[in-house]
Amino acid sequence: MAQNYYQKEIETMSREDMKALQSEKLVKQVKHVYENVPYYRSLMDEKGIKPEDIKGIDDLHKLPFLTKADLRDAYPYGLLAKPLEDCVRIHSTSGTTGRRVVAFYTQNDVDLWEDCCARAIVATGGSKKDVCQVAYGYGLFTGGFGLNGGSHKVGCLTLPMSSGNTERQIQFMMDLNATILCCTPSYAAYIGESLKEQGYKPEDIPLKAGIFGAEPWTEEMRKGIEATLGIKAYDIYGLTETTGPGVSFECSEQTGMHVNEDHFFAEIIDPDTGEVLPEGSKGELVFTSLDKEAFPLLRYRTRDICVLSRKKCSCGRTLIKMAKPMGRTDDMLIIRGVNVFPSQIETVLLKEGYEPNYQIVVDRVNNNDTFDVNVEMTAEQFTDKLGDVLKMEKALANAMKIMLGINPAVHLLPPKSIARSEGKAVRVIDKRKLI
Ligand code: ADP
Ligand code: ZN
Repeated sequence: MAQNYYQKEIETMSREDMKALQSEKLVKQVKHVYENVPYYRSLMDEKGIKPEDIKGIDDLHKLPFLTKADLRDAYPYGLLAKPLEDCVRIHSTSGTTGRRVVAFYTQNDVDLWEDCCARAIVATGGSKKDVCQVAYGYGLFTGGFGLNGGSHKVGCLTLPMSSGNTERQIQFMMDLNATILCCTPSYAAYIGESLKEQGYKPEDIPLKAGIFGAEPWTEEMRKGIEATLGIKAYDIYGLTETTGPGVSFECSEQTGMHVNEDHFFAEIIDPDTGEVLPEGSKGELVFTSLDKEAFPLLRYRTRDICVLSRKKCSCGRTLIKMAKPMGRTDDMLIIRGVNVFPSQIETVLLKEGYEPNYQIVVDRVNNNDTFDVNVEMTAEQFTDKLGDVLKMEKALANAMKIMLGINPAVHLLPPKSIARSEGKAVRVIDKRKLI
């Protein structure tokens, strides 16, 4: 397949040139932050680091980290590096982990962010011939506006649907021949399910690609969405703190996401010691914004658990790749002392032939953790024979026990009994945290 790039020179730049570009940007950025963000200046002063000590990317490890706690402390203006009159936009995190963060953008920041999203769209084969349906939420959440901007830059005919109103999503998709769908993977699965119910077969659907992100999803879920919608499904990653979607994006190889490393420098650290780990190690992802003006975070700890790789990619891009994040250090559940990620449960469900419609409920009763997984049966699986249901529950609980090392209580529910998500899915109810 002939490869298209949105900014070929950057996307296929040699390692040496990229490092030189990153180093040049970092030196400038550290100076900008030191001079304009008293909060970070005092963190640098505490460590005895001056901007002159940072001569290039190899010195990055000397800088202090920023965490979500810092963002909370500094809320709302404490990390702003430009006068408010130079800013044109505010976005906010979706608050998955309960703590909202606000981020500011200059016009130049918006511009570079939209370029990143345009790279992602072009990497899926997108061009001005496409109709791009953006079904991420528009508003404080970054998804809608980010992909909308990228779609404009590519020159696609943009359908700014926002999330929700699935009937209307389907009608516009079919009537206006949408070819690219952008939304969360859980919403894509729901749209697919609704299309199927209305009798559409994959070959009836005009879509050819999907750009799905903003939440973790498994390979099994990708296969399911690709089959129902008759498309290739691409992953996209980002967070409000760095801009929004488009920090990294998947290419035709579909084996991880290329990081837009001319704008965001990625490191993997040991979450316990803060030590930088070599390429290929699993750890916490840390990003440094190399050229953001209004809200430039240096060494921001994302809490996302990930692996980086410089293995040569068949698409020709030389940008470093990150694996699908395996969850966050803060969405890992510790149940009866065992580490459990929702993504592991999802993997088991899809392998056992269930749809990814589930909810994990954890509680503490008499000082013991309880661990329940509610799972919907599909219409084909549905039975009201108690004996059969019990057998199926037992088989599923066993499969989970093998994956996790602990035994959940599985409860099979009738189809459509777990609320669908139009944005990020709510997979976990941890009642222990609510006490
Ligand atoms: P919140 O922290 O409230 O969810 P954001 O809306 O900014 O705030 O979401 C950013 C987070 O979403 C990332 O740190 C990551 O955990 C998750 N995320 C985004 N894209 C992906 C993706 N493609 N795969 C897995 N997780 C993702
Ligand atoms: Zn590639």
